[in-house]
Amino acid sequence: PEPILQVRNLTVHFYTYAGIVKAIERVSFDVYRGETFALVGETGCGKSVTSRALTQLIESPGRIVEGEVLYHKEDGTVVDLLKLNEEQIREIRGNEIAYIFQDPHASLDPLYTVGYQIAEAMEVHGKVESIKEGIKKAVDILRSVLIPDPENRVKNYPHELSGGMKQRVVIGIGIANNPKILIADEPTTALDVTVQAQILDLINQLKEKYKATVILITHNLGVVAETADRVAVMYAGKIVEIGSVEQIFKNPLHPYTKGLLKAVPNPMTKIERLEAIPGTVPNLITPPSGCRFHPRCPFATEVCKRKVPELKEMEDGHFVACHLY
Ligand code: SF4
Ligand code: MG
Repeated sequence: PEPILQVRNLTVHFYTYAGIVKAIERVSFDVYRGETFALVGETGCGKSVTSRALTQLIESPGRIVEGEVLYHKEDGTVVDLLKLNEEQIREIRGNEIAYIFQDPHASLDPLYTVGYQIAEAMEVHGKVESIKEGIKKAVDILRSVLIPDPENRVKNYPHELSGGMKQRVVIGIGIANNPKILIADEPTTALDVTVQAQILDLINQLKEKYKATVILITHNLGVVAETADRVAVMYAGKIVEIGSVEQIFKNPLHPYTKGLLKAVPNPMTKIERLEAIPGTVPNLITPPSGCRFHPRCPFATEVCKRKVPELKEMEDGHFVACHLY
């Protein structure tokens, strides 16, 4: 498989009055061209921060303190997205790399029609000459995200649409510029259960149609099982395990991953929170020493408190960061 993104030692800290929140520490993974790569973990594990940091989308008091995000363009050139200046990264963000966020209400501007908002996303990146031309193209985009009656819907304001329809519009904005990488952060969490499946279906269809790579951020293992090719499991700002969906679901290695899967005997069942593992998510101002999971781990030994476990490849493409291996 050919990488489209190679993330190396990505580290983000938030400089708060209470102290430095070490939100993610030395996070490394590859994303392959054309796959759906899921980042999974509990709320606060750093998966959203990781996805946002990929295009420098970290606001003050947060700062990317270390790392590389090597983006392999289709023409074979490789750029470190973290080395680009504000103007250069803006050219890529929303264009070659686009985001879909969790809450469609917050993603759309109530004062503009959905057609205008799609048109604007294209105009900013020079994909259309004018908003007028963009609105014409927006009709096709609304059609491709399966919004009925797109000729009329394009004139609607966000409040005239249901939550599911709004999220389709947000996805429309995401794909308007035919991105190479689509980053979807909990794209279905704010929606009704019935609508969730439709939205996942849509993302899968669009991925095929546009030959995009999808990075899916979710706390829902059912969504992972249904949608992803490969998974990285995050815990307290670190990646603890990476593998194919099959490797992770059939042969989980990390005690945390095992706990997650035990908490959900049937991963296809919808779950709201991954909280069946005893103990609480650590405070990331003073994270546990060594393995950050050690206070909750039934297998912890002395070495776990002292030494940070590094990711090790246990079988082809299956990595785990744990001293048991
Ligand atoms: Fe548990 Fe130690 Fe493995 Fe961490 S390194 S998951 S504490 S056994
Ligand atoms: Mg999040």
